[in-house]
Amino acid sequence: MKLHFPNSYAEIDLNSITKNLKQLRKRTGIKKILSVVKCNAYGHGAIEVAKRAEPDVDWFGVATVDEAIELRLGGIKKPILVFEVPSPRSAAAYQTHGLTATLSDFPHFSTLMDGTKYHIHFDTGMNRLGFKPSQAGKVRKMAVANQRLICSGIYSHYQTADDPGSDFVNTQQEIFREILKDFKEIPLVHMSNTGAAVHYNENNQFDMIRTGLAQLGYTAGRTQVDWLTPSLTWKSRIVQTLAIEAGESVSYGQKWTAQKSGYIGTIPVGYGDGILRSLSNKLQVKIRGEFYPVVGNITMDYTMVDLGDVKIAVDEEVVLMGGEAWSAAEWAEAAGTNVHEILTALNGRMARSYTDYS
Ligand SMILES: *Cc1c(COP(=O)(O)O)cnc(C)c1O
Repeated sequence: MKLHFPNSYAEIDLNSITKNLKQLRKRTGIKKILSVVKCNAYGHGAIEVAKRAEPDVDWFGVATVDEAIELRLGGIKKPILVFEVPSPRSAAAYQTHGLTATLSDFPHFSTLMDGTKYHIHFDTGMNRLGFKPSQAGKVRKMAVANQRLICSGIYSHYQTADDPGSDFVNTQQEIFREILKDFKEIPLVHMSNTGAAVHYNENNQFDMIRTGLAQLGYTAGRTQVDWLTPSLTWKSRIVQTLAIEAGESVSYGQKWTAQKSGYIGTIPVGYGDGILRSLSNKLQVKIRGEFYPVVGNITMDYTMVDLGDVKIAVDEEVVLMGGEAWSAAEWAEAAGTNVHEILTALNGRMARSYTDYS
């Protein structure tokens, strides 16, 4: 929806995306980077993020064919890997838009059209998509028999790399290395996501890493690093300030009751905009340099804060996320979820503006 009168603003600093990608390359010694911009680049705007990242990355990755088409129509030229399962409906689109498919099951060898490029996806423990390790021999035979298709890569996906210290990362890597013995001539091998690239950098990252979060300035999991800079700041304004008496409750279900008289500030964004309802009575937001607690249940369109005895004026700016307020990682911690979910929730009603210092 085109927003003429947005109630909140995401300010995205494109310069930090370039900085984060350069840091990632420097700190990890990674040869190639695939920039994951699925789900509207985790709410940051797929085209804008991809355009900015393009000079510093080798590939793009998206969840769906539709997301890949959006990138192509937006002028993105570098190779795009589509993670989803190919279907007869979308087979022609891979050719039309020059997309690389993911082949994760035997029927896909006949789904794709002549000349389509593909990467083979092996499941080494995630149990979501991909060929099983025991199928490696048969996959090889099918790949060789289907010369009408072009195999340009092979990959797998970690199950436990978001936090440091998991032995299963090594287990999966060993399983994958066994599989690779059958596919020595494939020119591009990739397995690491942000978590693996940042927390398991001592391991070989193969030829390429796939990163969504790191380019935006976060690591996965609970351990953030100081060399990545979050690029997004989300802001809104107070639309009403009201007086409240001791004993009165705020919002649906009366989940917060004022202990003393004071003021409530109402912000015109709610869970419909991406403030998870589970952050009710937990989140704090920044107004005029001070933190104020969100009180009562977050509603679809509004969130209320306890201003205490400070009668903050209508139109005062509220920093919801990033900048001087809580980072998306702190939101995730408080909500008991991951940074990915916090960021992908930012696809509701919000205007995005981009700063670009280059
Ligand atoms: C989403 C996704 C990634 C990126 O994950 P991050 O944690 O954001 O780096 C990488 N690979 C695949 C297959 C994905 O689906």
